[in-house]
Amino acid sequence: MTKEGAISPLPDIQPLKSIRECKKFLREPTFHHVNKPLINGKMKTAKHPNDEADLPEEDSKPPAKRPRRKAALKSEKLIAGMAEEDDDVKKPPAKRPRRNKKAALKSEEPAEDDDASDQMNKSKKRSSKESAPIPVDAMVNVMEFLPPRSLYNIALTCKSLREMVTTKMVVQSALIHGGNPSKSMTELHSLMRNHSIHVPSPLRLLRLANGKRCEFCLTSGTNHVRPGLGVFACWNCVVSGKQGRWNRGYSRNSGSSSSIKLTKAWKTSWVRYRKNPIYRTILSYSRVASNEYGTNHYFWSEHRCDANGERVGPLVTWGDVDDLKGYYDQLKTAAAAKEAAAANSTVDSATTSNVAAADNGNDNEEEEEEAAPSLSNGEWIEYYLTKNLNAPPKENYAEFNETFTNTVQMADRISREREELKKSKRDDKMQTKVDKVEKILDDLKALINEPFRERAMKACGKEKYLKSGMSSNQCMFLETPFINAWLAPYIKSPSKMTKKAMKEMAEKINVEIERIEKLLEMDFLSDDDDFEAAAKIFFRECYPDVEALYTCHSSYHGPTNMMTEEFVTLIQGGRFIGALCYLQTNNLSPILLVTEPSASLAQASKYLDETSLKKLAKIAWYQTNTSSCALFQDREDDSWAAEAFAAGHKFFGEAMAKVDKYGAWLEGKVDEDKRPAFLNKIVMGYWYFDDFMKEEDFEKIWKNNARLVRS
Ligand SMILES: [Zn+2]
Repeated sequence: MTKEGAISPLPDIQPLKSIRECKKFLREPTFHHVNKPLINGKMKTAKHPNDEADLPEEDSKPPAKRPRRKAALKSEKLIAGMAEEDDDVKKPPAKRPRRNKKAALKSEEPAEDDDASDQMNKSKKRSSKESAPIPVDAMVNVMEFLPPRSLYNIALTCKSLREMVTTKMVVQSALIHGGNPSKSMTELHSLMRNHSIHVPSPLRLLRLANGKRCEFCLTSGTNHVRPGLGVFACWNCVVSGKQGRWNRGYSRNSGSSSSIKLTKAWKTSWVRYRKNPIYRTILSYSRVASNEYGTNHYFWSEHRCDANGERVGPLVTWGDVDDLKGYYDQLKTAAAAKEAAAANSTVDSATTSNVAAADNGNDNEEEEEEAAPSLSNGEWIEYYLTKNLNAPPKENYAEFNETFTNTVQMADRISREREELKKSKRDDKMQTKVDKVEKILDDLKALINEPFRERAMKACGKEKYLKSGMSSNQCMFLETPFINAWLAPYIKSPSKMTKKAMKEMAEKINVEIERIEKLLEMDFLSDDDDFEAAAKIFFRECYPDVEALYTCHSSYHGPTNMMTEEFVTLIQGGRFIGALCYLQTNNLSPILLVTEPSASLAQASKYLDETSLKKLAKIAWYQTNTSSCALFQDREDDSWAAEAFAAGHKFFGEAMAKVDKYGAWLEGKVDEDKRPAFLNKIVMGYWYFDDFMKEEDFEKIWKNNARLVRS
């Protein structure tokens, strides 16, 4: 017994703490070969009654194992046909020999008084005390709670476990764990409910629940069972029939290797449909599955089996529709003949039996005279399906359908709860993030100098973020674009913000703020220069305080400001006019307008109103092109401004003069009182003004824009 005692503690079996461990546990070699546990007398299965006899010998293990492994591998390969996880198939055999050696080594050691082996023994004993191995039968209870993928993995481990998988188990697992497996079950149910497909075996169901690729072409990714067909097929295989090797090898009827579409259209536009009302009965019978689309009924093109030789897909194929009709005709003729015979009153048993034999068709000759199926209520279709198409009896569908209806509500509730839990977790996470960011902004605010403190650190978008449910979005936005850009990494992941980083950030912001304050004083603009003096007055009016910086522009989202990183770069480079120009979205035409010689303005205003003048100034400012974004930002200093100003002035003056001249020229063509409106129209119309400035000949200008007088 001492030797047995030494062997009996299971070296590989640890206390089961989780399903994951349980799965691991199931892969251990000792589990399948219950000889070891049997020593303790704790575990016994009917599978290996002989194990007890040769139990103490370690040598008995390997020979018992190897044949099983190979057999298991074969069937595992079959199972793995649809799902992708090849690893599971390949791993165990690599593991086992190693384990066995170890186990063998260990079992030889205990005779020695080795400290290490003693310790090992202790731990082994402890583990065996804490957890008795689970009896294989009890695995059913564990398996019922596993998600489809784990159930599949378990089914791969050994034959006895594979045999334990039931339809109920798979349907429940798939429905409760949701996602594509659940969708597959729902699609299957709509067919199973009508008893219109071959009943999938539990293992096929399990494959359907875990499928990743089309079972026909084995290449296209597929998510769930194809609606209306109950097979795991990609759309290509359904409509264009690109499936290759699978179809060739397993298709029952077709000897040809040509690829055949999984579905075929049966058209209600055909004459035979219109002439024979019985087709209507056939097509609408519940066990006849087809997908209706317009006048087409798409039928399962031919009878097929899956890779394991199991019948798959709808019971009734395209060809069966006409066969059914033929059968109906046959029954009808027979019935008519019978009636005629009865009418002849010479009732002869021989004739009746002859008729009955004719009724039953070709292969039922040995059957006794069976009453021909009734031609109403689809009874004859039922009869035909059972006799000729191997349709399973309706009770075979019961387990699936019952489990489905019993579980679907619970599954709904569970998935709803899961969804809610997920949402509340996400909401909590988002709220925590918002809180963290708010704290960072508050802390940072305390370090920012006045008068910007409040304004610069103002953030928005919190509510929108919380409502969005997208936790990865930036949860808040600072109203100052350049500060927002600098802080964005910290707003996205608040944990990055350290005390040091915050201090540095505050300093960085303060430096910029000081610069902006200086800018707002406008002391860098001299009073002597025409342009600069005008600019000074203009900008001071535009930006009397900090608030004005934030509200000087309005956009679709409300007041906005131009304090971007580009703006900051301009200030950093001492390009103050450039920066101000940037704030004005590069439009300094108002300055141009106020500095225009008043004499000329007064004269011009005889014709042009204020709007037109502003427009003209804008055109003049942009006309020079000196002020375009690219130009002023590429310059090294602000000298461009004076140039642009001068050039704009020149253009403005010329344009005014020309308008005046043209106005005078119009004497006799346009009435005095209509002339200002006419000229304003020319200035406001971009195309007309362009033409007006380019063309020297007033006659031609008049020809081009005379119609403006009338419009
Ligand atoms: Zn395919």
